[in-house]
Amino acid sequence: MTGIHRRRLHQALADTQDADMVLGARVTAVEPGTPGRERARVTWESADGVHNAQADLVVAADEIRSITRSALFPNALRYSGFSCWRAAITDTTVDDRFAMTWGPNAEFGALRISADEVYWYGYVAMPSGRVITDEVRAVREYFAAWAPDVQALTETTDEVIRHDVWVLDRPLPRYTVGRVVLIGDAAHPMLPTLGQGANSALEDAVTVGLVLSAGGDLAAGLQRYEEERYRRTRRLVSRSAQMGRMGAEVGPRGQVLRNALLRITPPRAALRNGTRIFEWMPPRSFGA
Ligand SMILES: Cc1cc2nc3c(=O)[nH]c(=O)nc-3n(C[C@H](O)[C@H](O)[C@H](O)COP(=O)(O)OP(=O)(O)OC[C@H]3O[C@@H](n4cnc5c(N)ncnc54)[C@H](O)[C@@H]3O)c2cc1C
Repeated sequence: MTGIHRRRLHQALADTQDADMVLGARVTAVEPGTPGRERARVTWESADGVHNAQADLVVAADEIRSITRSALFPNALRYSGFSCWRAAITDTTVDDRFAMTWGPNAEFGALRISADEVYWYGYVAMPSGRVITDEVRAVREYFAAWAPDVQALTETTDEVIRHDVWVLDRPLPRYTVGRVVLIGDAAHPMLPTLGQGANSALEDAVTVGLVLSAGGDLAAGLQRYEEERYRRTRRLVSRSAQMGRMGAEVGPRGQVLRNALLRITPPRAALRNGTRIFEWMPPRSFGA
C-alpha cells in the first residue's frame, strides 16, 4: 500500500493537465441533455457572476453533497455514526507498512506518506455535529489508553482535522444520465474503513478518460462505463461497510468474540481475501 498526501496528488494532477481550469466557481444547475441530440447545460456562479455553458459531456466530481446527483436522482445521506480525525505529521520512526488498530467502537490507522511524514486517522463513534473546542486535546485524550505506537502519534500531533462521515442512504441505480457521468463521492460515497474512496474516484476518472479517448458513440461509451464501474464500486461500498461492521462498529463485548475469530483465521487466507479487492487495472480496450 502506498500513501500520498492529497495536496501533492492535486498538485501533480494540476501540473500535468492541459485543460482550462476555472477556480472559485460553484456549479448550481446541470441539465443532462441526450447523447446524439441536445447537449448538456451547466450553470455556475463565480465572483464575476452567473455563467452557462453547453457540453458534450459533463463529468460531475462534486463530492458527497453533489448538486449534480441531487438534480438527477432522488437521494438522501445517512450519518454513519462515526466522526474521523485526520492528521499528517512529521515522523521518521514508524515503518512503511500500513498499521490499523481496532478498539471499542473506534479504529486508528497510520501510513507513511513520505520519507519523513506519516498520515494517521482516528475513526470513532460520535454523534453528528459535535462541537469540540480543542480537537488536539480531545484526540490525545481519546487515544490515551491505546497502544503505545498510537499514543506516540497522537501525542506528537499539534494539528488535526475532523469530519463526520456520511454515506448514501441507498445506492444510485446508475451513474450516467444523458450526457452526465457521476464519479467519486458524487456517485458512490463509502466509509473510509477500506481507504478506497479517493482511489476509486481516480479509477472512475481514468475510465472516463478511456471512454473519451476511444471516440465513437457517446451513449455506447457511457454504457461501457457503467459496466466497468458500477459493479466494482458497489463492491467497494459494501466491503467498506463490512470492514466497519467487523472493526470500528464492534463494541467492548463484541470485541472479545471478533478477536477470538480472527485468531483462528489462517493469516494467509485472510490476507488474500482481504486484499484482492485492491487490485484494479484499467480496461485495455475501450472502443465504443
Ligand atoms: C474521514 C475520511 C477519511 C478518508 N480516508 C481516505 C483514504 O485513506 N483513502 C481514500 O482513498 N479515500 C479516503 N477518504 C475518501 C475520500 O476523501 C473521498 O472518497 C474522495 O475525496 C472523493 O473524491 P471526489 O473528487 O469525489 O470528491 P472531493 O474530494 O470531495 O472533491 C470534490 C470537489 O468538488 C468541489 N465541489 C463540490 N460541489 C461543487 C459545486 N457545486 N461546484 C463546484 N465545485 C464543487 C469541492 O469543493 C471539492 O473540491 C476519506 C474520507 C473521509 C471523510
